[in-house]
Amino acid sequence: MKRKHQDIIDQLTLQEKASLMSGKDFWQTENIDHVGLPSIFLSDGPHGLRKQQAAADNLGLNESFKATCFPTASAVASSWNLELGRQIGEALGKEAIYEKVHVLLGPGINIKRNPLCGRNFEYFSEDPYLAGKLAAEYVQGIQSQGVSACVKHFACNSQELRRMNVDSVVDERALREIYLTNFEIAIKEGKPWTIMSSYNLVNGDYSNQNQHICNAILRNEWKYEGVMVSDWGGEDDRIKGLLANNELEMPFNDGDTDREIVQAIRDGKLDEAVLDDCVDRVIELAFKTDKTIKEAPVTFDEEANHKLAERAAEECIVLLENHGVLPLAKDKKVAFIGKFIEQPRYQGAGSSLVNPTRLDKVVDLLNDNPDINFIGYEPGFHLNGKKSKNRVDRAVKLASQADVIVAFLGLDELSEAEGIDRVNMRLPNNQLALLEELYKLDKPIVVCLFTGSAVELPFAKRVDALVHCHLTGQASANAIVNVLTGKVNPSGKLSESYPFFYKNNPAAKYFHANENTAEYRESIYVGYRYYEKANVDVMYPFGYGLSYTEFQYTDLVLSPKGVTFKLKNIGNVKGKEVAQMYIGLEKSQVFRPKKELKGFAKVELEPGEEKEVFIPFDDYSFRYFNVATNKWEIEQGDYDISVGASSKDIWLKERLHVKGTTTTLPYDEKKCPSYFKGNVADVNDEEFAYVLGRDIPDGKMKFHRKKRIIVNYYTTVQQLRFAQGWSGRFFAWAIRTAIKFLKKVNPKTANTLIMGIYHQPMRGISRMTGGAVHWEQLDGLITMFNGHFFKGLSIFRKEGKKLKIARKEAEKAAAKQA
Ligand code: BGC
Repeated sequence: MKRKHQDIIDQLTLQEKASLMSGKDFWQTENIDHVGLPSIFLSDGPHGLRKQQAAADNLGLNESFKATCFPTASAVASSWNLELGRQIGEALGKEAIYEKVHVLLGPGINIKRNPLCGRNFEYFSEDPYLAGKLAAEYVQGIQSQGVSACVKHFACNSQELRRMNVDSVVDERALREIYLTNFEIAIKEGKPWTIMSSYNLVNGDYSNQNQHICNAILRNEWKYEGVMVSDWGGEDDRIKGLLANNELEMPFNDGDTDREIVQAIRDGKLDEAVLDDCVDRVIELAFKTDKTIKEAPVTFDEEANHKLAERAAEECIVLLENHGVLPLAKDKKVAFIGKFIEQPRYQGAGSSLVNPTRLDKVVDLLNDNPDINFIGYEPGFHLNGKKSKNRVDRAVKLASQADVIVAFLGLDELSEAEGIDRVNMRLPNNQLALLEELYKLDKPIVVCLFTGSAVELPFAKRVDALVHCHLTGQASANAIVNVLTGKVNPSGKLSESYPFFYKNNPAAKYFHANENTAEYRESIYVGYRYYEKANVDVMYPFGYGLSYTEFQYTDLVLSPKGVTFKLKNIGNVKGKEVAQMYIGLEKSQVFRPKKELKGFAKVELEPGEEKEVFIPFDDYSFRYFNVATNKWEIEQGDYDISVGASSKDIWLKERLHVKGTTTTLPYDEKKCPSYFKGNVADVNDEEFAYVLGRDIPDGKMKFHRKKRIIVNYYTTVQQLRFAQGWSGRFFAWAIRTAIKFLKKVNPKTANTLIMGIYHQPMRGISRMTGGAVHWEQLDGLITMFNGHFFKGLSIFRKEGKKLKIARKEAEKAAAKQA
């Protein structure tokens, strides 16, 4: 393809071109003044801008400029409102321009494979269709303002533990249908100018240098023409990265990889044309976005964005139970219990952390509220699980004077954070214990739940109402109070299934099972696709949510274009319903879920009002990925087209005959019966290897001799505890001890150490330190940690000196050239 900026490329030296392939600092790319090429600024994040003021980090540690904190992706997904996604995108775009940010690092769209993933709050759904559709709207919204969105993390990044080293072992069918369909929709419909690769490996190769997903699928099949940026410090082999068209490495590494690129071209290992293509796309992104930053009006309406965040929060809240207690009656005395009432839980921790323009608190909305007969507030528990009899007693005392108890419960910020997975799926024990004491009062209890991911809800059927508030951003307080009082009729529906117990999750046995691999043995059976197929009951199904009114579905009509049906509000209050279309093929010869989400519509209806709703079929409706033909195919058959209020609550169903595209079948049922039955929670090696199409890679840690490993670029700090050399073991011990100590005195800093250092591989020590430790010097550290302390030290020093001299010479040469 003809390069757009060949004239500029022709004026650049090889060194300059190489320099455009990585950052000039933590957040910016290089500028090249003599050709007028500007530097561009990349900033998090997905639900609000995190442009840092001074010190930079990718874990949300140092302060950022104030920005609107919108509900996190997991919350917005529960709104099922595409228009809302677009509006949030537009607002994010405006704030980005205001802060002179060219590329906004979001949305995050990874699939929620397992409830324990620490970053689930940043992701939309367990369903790729819903995630992809919402992501496309965010992208369109952000880019409508002239700055770039950046969908992340491509791909199969569904766990945080050892995220920089873990190999996601996933069969091609699941890869395509579950873990890439979300990206496919986001890319084709949203057309992002930037995509971020994930830290992990996908089937044996780091995602940013993975030819299969980057070139064969992203570039060739989906025709992606934008820029791929590596996740911060995630670059492995820079040349392989370029060959996979990963243009931009972030952050900076003091020229380490520039030198590698130049050398590779001189040695004939990299064709300069590959570099020129990558440079061309970076130049295009820089000019396109910088034009906006220079020309667009630099204002944004802080108040309007706060209001939008509030409206968004209202749409995200999901009513899970209501046995007549909500909306709160004005004459009932209400006691509010729970620390989150004064210390809102409204976002998660890590790189997405927003410094909000303001923060509304429920506690400030209760006194003198004409709609609530408020009698008092008690925190009831400490955050971070610490027990307090005093707090419980005070809460019980207050609650005993009330007619209704409203309890705010949830996970704390430290258990939903980037870099760390949760250890269990439960709410903290001190909160559950408080609830036990409140039951004893035998009064109606309303629980408002604050989590960014699914939790076990053992109390759900014992309370009188359960309101899932998710993590709904800086303006959530009004939204929550409005839902409690009935000013707002809740209209959210769950974007992920809520199993009764963690062990019911199909990936429970495989998640974290190996040191170096994450085996996706459950294949395509993620979330409801599994629970339905394996007949495993859940607490709340995917797509579920109540309203203060009721809806009725009638008159389904099928056509080759889609489904039409009537939806009526048969209650007394105005409300919005999320009508969902699922498609399944009962008599399939290919293993597949009972049904899958293929369309939805959010419809607002006055009491008694009826509307005709149309949900179209599209390219994704009937396809499955056939591993025998290596193509998307359609199986011939009579498809069940279902329409309903959740994946379980189906109101209308008809069959539609659809012609097939092939008769070649991909699987022999005898070789993978568990997959045909959907019993995938404990798949044996033979069946998994068959579906995977190759031997299962060994994911165990390799010991060189008893309890000792050979340290290499990929060994993590945690794994150094098995290093041959005492210095490696000492280093690991020191970090582990610091974490243990800090967990007691300062859990937040302990988390940071785990996030930033504990699971960092050796190569990250170079990629993330901006040149403090050069790649060549790593060999010195590795030698030390492998038991040759003095030899390693001398390599470390020698390489450091060599680089200093080389740098001085390069500077002299550049000065001469100038
Ligand atoms: C995260 C990305 C984020 C980047 C920059 C990484 O640690 O995985 O999502 O955009 O840091 O902060």
